[in-house]
Amino acid sequence: MSYTIIIGLEVHVQLATSSKLFCGCSTTFGAAPNTQTCPVCTGTPGTLPVMNEEAYRLSVKAALGLNCQIAKFTKWDRKSYYYPDLPKGYQISQFDQPLSFDGHLDIPDPANEGEIRRIGIIRAHLEEDAGKSMHDEEAGKADSRIDLNRTGTPLLEIVSEPDLRSPAEAKNYLTELKLLLNYLAVSDCNMQEGSLRVDANINLHIDSPEGKIATPIVEVKNMNSFRSVERALTYEAERQWEIWQETGQRLGDVPKQTRGWDEAAQITRGQRSKEESSDYRYFPDPDLVPVTMTDEAIGQIRETLGELPAALRDRLGREYDITPYDADVLVNQGRELVDYFLTTAQGCGDGKVAANWLQQSVLRTLNEQQATIDQFPVSADDLAGLIKIVLAGKMETSRGREVLAEMIASGTTAEEAMKSLGIAEVDESDLEALCAELIAANPKVVEDVKQGKLKAAGSLIGQAKKKNPNANATRVREICLQLIEQM
Ligand SMILES: [Zn+2]
Repeated sequence: MSYTIIIGLEVHVQLATSSKLFCGCSTTFGAAPNTQTCPVCTGTPGTLPVMNEEAYRLSVKAALGLNCQIAKFTKWDRKSYYYPDLPKGYQISQFDQPLSFDGHLDIPDPANEGEIRRIGIIRAHLEEDAGKSMHDEEAGKADSRIDLNRTGTPLLEIVSEPDLRSPAEAKNYLTELKLLLNYLAVSDCNMQEGSLRVDANINLHIDSPEGKIATPIVEVKNMNSFRSVERALTYEAERQWEIWQETGQRLGDVPKQTRGWDEAAQITRGQRSKEESSDYRYFPDPDLVPVTMTDEAIGQIRETLGELPAALRDRLGREYDITPYDADVLVNQGRELVDYFLTTAQGCGDGKVAANWLQQSVLRTLNEQQATIDQFPVSADDLAGLIKIVLAGKMETSRGREVLAEMIASGTTAEEAMKSLGIAEVDESDLEALCAELIAANPKVVEDVKQGKLKAAGSLIGQAKKKNPNANATRVREICLQLIEQM
């Protein structure tokens, strides 16, 4: 028997607002515990929440980027549950009328290079975050403390259809989603700071002689990186297959289970049976007015989307003649790097060559230095200047890389770096004179070449380099062969 893995993801992203969703408290990460709270976000009776319009605008922007329908009317609901880090005893969320629905995200198909998989988005809605419980943080003490700084921070919950068919697809979906949200500037998506959190629903569809059988759905939590998502889902699929073989349990036989990923042990552990939504006693929040949107307001937000990753990859391939792989590498680095590429490509006049320089020199340096493109010491114009010198045949690529290394080290232009390295551009007429001189001095080589032994020309290149280290080997070879042919 074989099986198909069925995965749906729920992603919570913290929106890039300066204040919380229903009060004016700061959302800055890393402040001392409980210094960013007020009576509203700590749920003091008698206080009234007021919606942060910027959070709503960013949510609609993200939803439009995900090709969602935007609701003209939406309301706020209370999701009731008790937890020490939720002082109100309920979370303000959106239940049956989310602000957006019915979207999709196209992702690279990990099984077929160059192909696209379209993943449905069920809904994206806005809600407030809870606080943070910290356990056993002081050495040797069994202490529990609560930090309410995060309470009330705006979260966009993005729920995918169960369209993902492998852990690798789940990882690609998350990578593409994060890239999209970065381009839209709606969230910094920093997983370490909790700005992006992933919960996964997974089960198996087993092909059996009696037809397709679905196993119970499990929700997996506590995954701290995209890699751990991939690993946790791989583990969980295998575990469910084993459980199925042991118990034969099907969807509906047992309640939905929540399991946590244990990164150290590389396994998932059972946590609790999942609440059904009726357990949350959702009801409309009487303190908040519903939100209405007009076509005009939606249109205004749509105008702020900018060029998104998929369209950008397409344009780079079309207008700059670079491969889908190269376009992918550049676009996946973020908009700033793409802008750097565009300036370089336009400045030197060759997109393909510019893409090579960016990948082989610029990105390599950024990786080594753990830096971003805005910290790169060579401007796109100066890099374009260097590439132009190389393209004109005045300097070899390998020497050009030495020059770039000097430009990075000293922050100078190509001309200045060449001067300080003692590299001079070699004039074409000087090069011709040099070649003519060498040919006159090496009749044996000329004879060999004339007899078809083109390799013999190599000794001329070596001699040319000795006389002028800046001579371009490729050009020397070309000119020599040409001169010999004319003899
Ligand atoms: Zn507050």
